[in-house]
Amino acid sequence: MTNKKDFKNWLKAFNLEHPLVIAGPCSAETEEQVLTIAHQLKDTDTSVMRAGIWKPRTKPGNFEGVGQIGLNWLKRAKEETGLKIATEVANKTHVELALEADVDILWIGARSTVSPFIVQDIADALQGTDKIVLVKNPVNPDLPLWLGAVERLHKADINNLGVIHRGFSTYEKTRYRNNPEWQIAIDLQTEFPDLPLILDPSHIAGKRDIIFDVCQTALDLNYDGLMVETHHTPDKAWSDAAQQITPKALEQMTIDLRIRKEHGEAAEFKNKLNTLRTKIDVVDHQIITHLGKRMKIVDDIGRLKKKNNVAILQSKRWNEILERMIQEGRDNGLSEDFVVSFFKEIHQESIAHQHKLLADNEA
Ligand code: PEP
Ligand code: MN
Repeated sequence: MTNKKDFKNWLKAFNLEHPLVIAGPCSAETEEQVLTIAHQLKDTDTSVMRAGIWKPRTKPGNFEGVGQIGLNWLKRAKEETGLKIATEVANKTHVELALEADVDILWIGARSTVSPFIVQDIADALQGTDKIVLVKNPVNPDLPLWLGAVERLHKADINNLGVIHRGFSTYEKTRYRNNPEWQIAIDLQTEFPDLPLILDPSHIAGKRDIIFDVCQTALDLNYDGLMVETHHTPDKAWSDAAQQITPKALEQMTIDLRIRKEHGEAAEFKNKLNTLRTKIDVVDHQIITHLGKRMKIVDDIGRLKKKNNVAILQSKRWNEILERMIQEGRDNGLSEDFVVSFFKEIHQESIAHQHKLLADNEA
């Protein structure tokens, strides 16, 4: 896949001053629900209505989607409101039915992107379509796997392509339902600057109150659009209730979000500066998180030393760490002075931690 190809043509056809907004319920539930939400979305910045018809659920027995009949409801929503419509497809039958119903945007879900067999089947069924196809990131943080899925579609002569960033699974609990791992999306943007990148804040956040912040970070990183799960009565939704917002809340959010649409040289400079600053924020967050993790290991070592009556300060080990870090620092363009003073600070804090641990235990 060439990184020079301009995949943004389909996006330009929307002729928008702001990022593309795709909104709608996690799942189509009833015809009345789909139409109510569609009419409420008509009064917002939304261009495309989403709704899951076939739902991939972690556990069997949960609501698995209304199936084919939901396509009729989406079609009716499109006729009544003029909104374009989007749904998830996960196999050949889904693709055939969605094409028959003239669904405008088809997306591949995170659980399908992980499987080259599934993606290939979908690509074969879509061969040569001029529909827009969006690929969600795989559940695991693997950029080549994500790009591989895009490439399979491109090889099947599908040119209206884009990707959706919906965050990544972690075993460790974080504040997110799916960890954003912004660095992966930044790397993808660097490699394929012309591949439309859309944020799904709902599946990243997992709960309403952090959706706004996730969207703002994405807009500061110049994402091309948002896909937000939206329901007229979110708490009563049959799936993903905690993360859905009302069309009214969506409207307010798009007003409150800083969307950069100024033009001119000064605005261009400000945009670039803001994007670079957001990238710094992402890296700083990683540094602090990793320092915190390092300190937890230091505490474990402190407890082990105490149990075995071993002295806290062990200069041989410390000198080895420093030597290695000076070398790695050099490889990464960092001066020896900087690396030494940085690690001295870390070392001092580690010793302080272990002393405190001893004192606490003795108290
Ligand atoms: C969805 O968009 O409702 C969905 C199931 O998403 P994901 O594939 O990101 O889990
Ligand atoms: Mn959902």
